[in-house]
Amino acid sequence: MYKEILKYTKDHGVMLVAVSKTRSADDIMKLYNEDQRIFGENKVQELTEKYNLLPKDIKWHLIGHLQSNKVKYIAPFIDMIESVDSEDLIYMIDKEGRKNNRVISVLLQFHIAAEESKFGLNLPDAKNLLTNILHKYNLSHVRICGVMGMATFTEDIQQLRDEFKSLKTIFNFLKENYFVEDDHFKEISMGMSGDYEIAIAEGSTMVRIGSAIFGVRS
Ligand SMILES: *Cc1c(COP(=O)(O)O)cnc(C)c1O
Repeated sequence: MYKEILKYTKDHGVMLVAVSKTRSADDIMKLYNEDQRIFGENKVQELTEKYNLLPKDIKWHLIGHLQSNKVKYIAPFIDMIESVDSEDLIYMIDKEGRKNNRVISVLLQFHIAAEESKFGLNLPDAKNLLTNILHKYNLSHVRICGVMGMATFTEDIQQLRDEFKSLKTIFNFLKENYFVEDDHFKEISMGMSGDYEIAIAEGSTMVRIGSAIFGVRS
């Protein structure tokens, strides 16, 4: 499936993040040898182990919940943290970015699904967060590049469409109100194995695909 998905995302100008959580280093190398360079992991420990084992030109995206006290383990090498949902986390990423002399790219994660979740911002949270960080701090080592969200696990296409539309609307609002002059703020990470075609139709710029590439996770 990898080749078909890669072609589909390329044809639509969308970035493909191959979600390699639970997969072995060998599985990742097979895809690396087909020129895939962007991989997504959801756990810090698994990510750092794979980082140590695998070629250093891989761009790693963290896509799972991140505790502030673990930022230090990934700050030296992470390409993008897609799952930022608190002010404290942003300050910590900035601090660790500074220590490592790196600017770390992040996305703000939003809760767009109907399912309950402890993680992800809503629009009022995000307005607060952005107002606070834009006024209080000079955050020179963290770069907010856009938004990320996960839709409900459902086959209801209209519901998926509506949830993706809601993230696109949030993106547009934040772009107009906080990032008009910031060209880095341009990514909408939405779409997984079961729903990436709908997500792309609704304006995704980045999809995170695991099982459709690697097979069903055990
Ligand atoms: C696991 C995961 C994915 C990929 O899921 P698939 O259904 O295997 O494509 C995407 N995003 C996040 C945040 C994930 O945790």
